Parts: sequence; structure tokens; C-alpha cells
Amino acid sequence: MDNNKINAIVAHFEVKGEVSDLQTYGSGHIHETYRLKNKQTDQPDYILQKINHSIFTNVDALMHNIETVIDHLQLKGKSAASQDTLSLVRTKAGKSYVQDADGSYWRMYLFLKGTKGYDLIENDKQAREGGRAYGQFIADLSDLNPSKIHEILPDFHNIQHRLNQLDDAIARDPEQRLKDLNPEIDFVKARAERMKTIKQMGDAGKLPLRITHNDTKFNNVLLNEKDEAQCVIDLDTIMPGYIAFDFGDAVRTIINTAEEDEKDLEKIQLNMGLFKAFADGFIEKTRTILNEDEVDSLSQSCLLLPYIMGVRFLTDYIDGDHYYKIHSPHHNLQRARAQFELVRKLEGKFDDIQQTIQHISEKHHATGNS
Ligand code: ATP
Ligand code: MG
Ligand code: MG
Repeated sequence: MDNNKINAIVAHFEVKGEVSDLQTYGSGHIHETYRLKNKQTDQPDYILQKINHSIFTNVDALMHNIETVIDHLQLKGKSAASQDTLSLVRTKAGKSYVQDADGSYWRMYLFLKGTKGYDLIENDKQAREGGRAYGQFIADLSDLNPSKIHEILPDFHNIQHRLNQLDDAIARDPEQRLKDLNPEIDFVKARAERMKTIKQMGDAGKLPLRITHNDTKFNNVLLNEKDEAQCVIDLDTIMPGYIAFDFGDAVRTIINTAEEDEKDLEKIQLNMGLFKAFADGFIEKTRTILNEDEVDSLSQSCLLLPYIMGVRFLTDYIDGDHYYKIHSPHHNLQRARAQFELVRKLEGKFDDIQQTIQHISEKHHATGNS
């Protein structure tokens, strides 16, 4: 980035002290993220982000969501877990973002010092802390009316929508890839009804619509130097949703001993220890708000989220790889196969997963933890 351009953007924001030393930062895949260091050591450092405008076309609605959630969390005071809340830096015009001369949109956060995000979980303590952080986050938002939040990416976790997209790609088959995909398509079809369980519970009014994070990867929680959860970040996909989505998506990456796109399916195994630690932290912080149907939905979600991701990868493969960046010609198929293998493994352990969740939830119910 050209320094003059950056200085012009920074000049729009209410920055304290004097910042310099712009560096790209973190391992995010969506926005361009930079860190700005302060020359005055008693003043904050900052995170500057160029918002990905092709994914988030309505920046005003996006920033409305983030502001609403941050205001709510800050009004409540720091949560019981003594976590921080992300803080937006306002522009001099009092807004939460600015558009530059090229038409790009920028926003700024206070940099959270002494924190670290992990792409891969290393131990049970981190898993439990991650669970606590996301659990506390949802609990803190449980009294914010979901109608105040825009559905910024409509139908994001709607299984019916994802299956419809797959059917549509199958009907078009633009790359003539279908001929080799019978096993994968059979896999999807055989499970389609079961995977609608959470949607049906929701449609029947059994699962309350909450404000959920919707991108609960482990690196969207920052931990402090003692590996304690410090702050939930990356609030772009905050939307009305079911709590199961956040639980299942986190478990999808935490329980898998292999990468999301592992080619060697033998390497895809379940780490039940990390799963238990995450579930324990998550349920500890949400037990008092969860109803019994929601507790049931948590185990279903462990199957649903990898299934949805597999369906999305398969759809993109059939479609000709337009959505996900690929690093080899059949990358999306490899990703889909890895997710379906994970579903298979999870099905094999489903009773165990269900009993673990039940047991943890009874434990926290009995102790009245919140
Ligand atoms: P993703 O691929 O997870 O969607 P993203 O492109 O949306 O990522 P963020 O998660 O918002 O970007 O930020 C990218 C990285 O920058 C984070 O993983 C984290 O390491 C770091 N980061 C973001 N905000 C802060 C902050 N306020 N303080 C310190 N580090 C931060
Ligand atoms: Mg992120
Ligand atoms: Mg993100």
C-alpha cells in the first residue's frame, strides 16, 4: 500500500498519538487487515481493515450490525469472563467507516495488545477457553432483539437453500463433471432429510432465533498470554440464527485431526478430548439460556455443519469453481470429500457425542453455572 494513500485514510479517523509502521497483519481470508503502531507508547495501536466489498455489498448494513452488537456488549459492561469487546474507532465525521477516493471502504478497531489468534488449536485449555468465549458472546447477546440485525448474507446456514443450489448446479452441469460424482451425490441425498432436523425444529418454533456469530473458527477468538480467552472478533457475519450453527461450525474444525481439505481421508479422525473441552466451555456459559431442544440440537449440529460445507464445496466444484479460491484443479472436490468423510466419522461416534453433550449439560445445570 502506498503510504500517502494510507495516511489519507488514517487522517479520517479519530486516532490518538501518532501512528506509523503499517504492516499487513493476521491470517484473515476476507478483508485486507493492517496493524498501525503508535509512536507514543502510552497510546493505542490500531487495526485498519479494507472491507471486502464484493462479499459485503451493503457496507452500511454490515457496519450497522457490528455497531449494534458492540454497543450492546459494551453497555452490559465487560462480560463475566472478563473478556474485552472489540472497539471501533470513529471517523471525524462520527461514522464507523470511510470510503476512499478509489471507492474502497475502510474501518478501524483498537488493537488488542498481548493477544494471539491460533489457526490450529493446541490443547484442551485453549479449546475450553474458545468454547467459553463463544458461549459467553451468545449469552451476552441473548437479550438483543434479532430484528435489529440485518441478515447480511441471507440463507447462510439454510440447508434447504444449500441443497437447492446443489440441485441447480446438477441440473446445469456446466463443466460436465457430474459423471464422476455419483458417490458424493448419493452421500448427500441419503442424508438430506436427516440434515433438515434443526431447520424443522426452528420452523416449529422450538429453537429461539438468537444473534449468532456464524464464523466460529478458532482464530476468531483472541487469547491472552496465559491462553485465556480475551475477545471474540470478526463480527461481519453476525446474524439472526440458531445457537447450534455456532456450536457445530466450531466443532467442525476443532474435532477434526486433519485440515479442512485433507486429501488422505485416513488422516481424518476425531479428537474427542478437544471436542469435550470445547463443549464444556461453551455449555458452561450458555446453560442458563439454552432450552432442552437447543441442547438436543447441539449434537445434530456437529453433523450438519460439515455436511453443509461439503454440499457447498461440491456445488462450487460442479459449478466450475467460482466461489472458493482453488489451489489445484480438483480442490473443491477434495474439500467436499474431506467434509463428507468427517460426517461419516461423526456419524460413527454420534451416540458418544450426544451423551457427552447431555452429560456436560446436566453437570452445568446442576451447578447452576452461567
Ligand atoms: P476470516 O478469514 O476469519 O474471515 P477476516 O478477513 O474477516 O478473517 P479478521 O478476522 O477480522 O479478518 O482479522 C484478521 C486477523 O487480524 C485476525 O485473525 C486477528 O489475528 C487480527 N485482528 C483482527 N482484529 C484485531 C484486533 N482488534 N486486535 C488484534 N488483532 C486483531
Ligand atoms: Mg477472522
Ligand atoms: Mg471474517
